[in-house]
Amino acid sequence: MKIIETVDAFRDVRRRTPDPLGLVPTMGYLHDGHLALVRRARAENASVAASIFVNPTQFAPTEDLATYPRDMEGDLEKLEREGVDLVLAPNADEMYPSGFDTFVDVGDVANRLEGAHRPGHFRGVATVVCKLLTIVRPDRAYFGQKDAQQSMVIRRLSADLNLGAEIVVVPTVRDADGLALSSRNAYVKPDQRDAALTLSHSLNLARRMYDDGVRDAEKIRSQMRELIAVVPGANLDYVSIADADTLAELDDIDRPALVSLAVNVGSVRLIDNTLLP
Ligand code: AMP
Repeated sequence: MKIIETVDAFRDVRRRTPDPLGLVPTMGYLHDGHLALVRRARAENASVAASIFVNPTQFAPTEDLATYPRDMEGDLEKLEREGVDLVLAPNADEMYPSGFDTFVDVGDVANRLEGAHRPGHFRGVATVVCKLLTIVRPDRAYFGQKDAQQSMVIRRLSADLNLGAEIVVVPTVRDADGLALSSRNAYVKPDQRDAALTLSHSLNLARRMYDDGVRDAEKIRSQMRELIAVVPGANLDYVSIADADTLAELDDIDRPALVSLAVNVGSVRLIDNTLLP
């Protein structure tokens, strides 16, 4: 496994790397969710590259960039074990040298949900993913359903700017109790577990109601809000039941829908989602 810190060195090695190549972009502190992406990439490509880069431009000044968990040594061991060929691990100056002044703005799909609650977030995501796809030139790039809207934004980005990568979305990996794996779970204390589980519990509730025939989206949203409101330490940011293609909020669930939510548990902001049907 080659570990590469600069764009020029990566480009040089990339020229001699067999196609097709699959890329797994990450911010590190890797868990089994990330590794599911790596395994899928390994199964589908001759070569696999992963990137580890905590991207400063997708964090607002009030967010957790400084405390975002990091473990480069542990991450590299995990990637080596999964048979990754190349790791791109640049520092912030390599990706954003002084004078950097170009950003990518994806439209409608980036302005809803997370985009509305984290202004500028998807501008940072789209910019760094555009750079990564341009540097690495993968045939396929792998993203998690856990960040459903992010995957949609990146599909739009790759199609609109002809970045030439097929975007593959991999199902969410969960702990046995249902909590979606996330690097930020490192900061969920044992006594906050019940609060963190309100995400998967409320998504399960939505699915049960849907399976029982409920199609009134607001009825489901309000039951989800109530479930979360009674659990100490869980502070709801939003719940959404939206058209799975456009992310426009639905009144009636008469088409494929993305149920998603964000909950603050102490200082940790967690997100999760499920698709209906
Ligand atoms: P991150 O390091 O949080 O930026 O995540 C890197 C990639 O891993 C993104 O495409 C995420 O959607 C994906 N990912 C994170 N958590 C999970 C999970 N629990 N299951 C599947 N994919 C995940």
